Amino acid sequence: MQRGLVVCVVGTRPEAVKLAPIVLALKDHPRLAPLLVSTGQHRELVGEALADFALAPDIDLELMRVAQRPVDLLAAALPRLADLYAARRPAAVVVQGDTISALAAAQAAALTGTPLVHVEAGLRSGDVTAPFPEEHNRRLIAQLADRHFAPTSSARDALLREGIAADTIEVTGNTGIDALRIIEHSLDTAGDKTRSMLPRLDAARPLLVVTAHRRENHGAPLVRIAAALAELAVNDGVEIVLPVHPHPAVEAAFAPLASVPYIHLVPPLSYPAFIGLLRRATAVLTDSGGVQEEAPALGVPALVLRDVTERDEGLATGNARLVGTETATIVAATRALLDDRILLARMSEPALPYGAGHAAPRIVASLDRLFGRVQARAELFEYA
Ligand code: UDP
Repeated sequence: MQRGLVVCVVGTRPEAVKLAPIVLALKDHPRLAPLLVSTGQHRELVGEALADFALAPDIDLELMRVAQRPVDLLAAALPRLADLYAARRPAAVVVQGDTISALAAAQAAALTGTPLVHVEAGLRSGDVTAPFPEEHNRRLIAQLADRHFAPTSSARDALLREGIAADTIEVTGNTGIDALRIIEHSLDTAGDKTRSMLPRLDAARPLLVVTAHRRENHGAPLVRIAAALAELAVNDGVEIVLPVHPHPAVEAAFAPLASVPYIHLVPPLSYPAFIGLLRRATAVLTDSGGVQEEAPALGVPALVLRDVTERDEGLATGNARLVGTETATIVAATRALLDDRILLARMSEPALPYGAGHAAPRIVASLDRLFGRVQARAELFEYA
């Protein structure tokens, strides 16, 4: 019997990481089969992240252009994805999160009458200007999706408040935790070969891992963050490892740190190398959503370099603190954490505030119930 095709669209590294467990589960499924499509938004990082799960895109739309704006990517991706759905007539399209690639894939599904499934549905910062455009993207995708897989009950509540029908929402847990456990297992069983990719670190010093590249922090906020890191490295006896995201605004802001002792600027790390590093960290300073979720799962305190977050569950459990992007506030919050052993121990309690794992098998079981008997969608909207 031909299996029902489930198109899984990825554009960025976090989408690749968080959809990989679903794609792996679909590969083994008797009635459903994945078609993994990369828009090419962050082509190299996506390719590397998928390779860590022994996956590769079935189709690469190669849409990234130098200095491309989000609006250009959206305009380029829409017709390509709509044509793809029209040609392959999938049983469903799966998108994850809130990127421009996810929005394009969702709009193309709506325009062709292809059922749309949203993974990591219901995250809200409550502020449409932050993160921009992600908060818009996730709200728009929620309006278009036929099925909403929410990681937590508070994400479900956010969807209900926006009028999404309760019987289309399922609380599934977090596929990012599934991905993390797959990689932790391989680090633990196959040996951690990633250490050689990391700089030599002084084990006597606390280790701060830092990631920051969110669009809302480009410009002055990243410069203030860099100043805080320099002060901590010079005055507080810490080691700092900072994988620099390959974007000119990020590279420019962090370049002055290259000569600061105890700050190690490194290229983006493979996902296993980054998880291996995070496991060794005393704390992480980050503006990343995925890292905010991974840190408590690994028992690492997270200081969040933003003024708002759509992931407030970790603030409530005490695993994370919102510290903003002012230099003095970041320095003070980091010192407060490193100097207070009780606070450090409390924030290092492992927890899963953003949803537990086993989400991917739940989602695939649900897809099977909904689409397992659909081999090829007969009716599509005329969108030409
Ligand atoms: N990550 C990685 N290598 C790095 C830094 C981060 O593999 O050098 C992973 C991290 O573990 C997380 C994901 O990339 O799973 C987060 O991606 P990003 O910060 O780009 O996006 P966000 O989570 O904010 O959507």
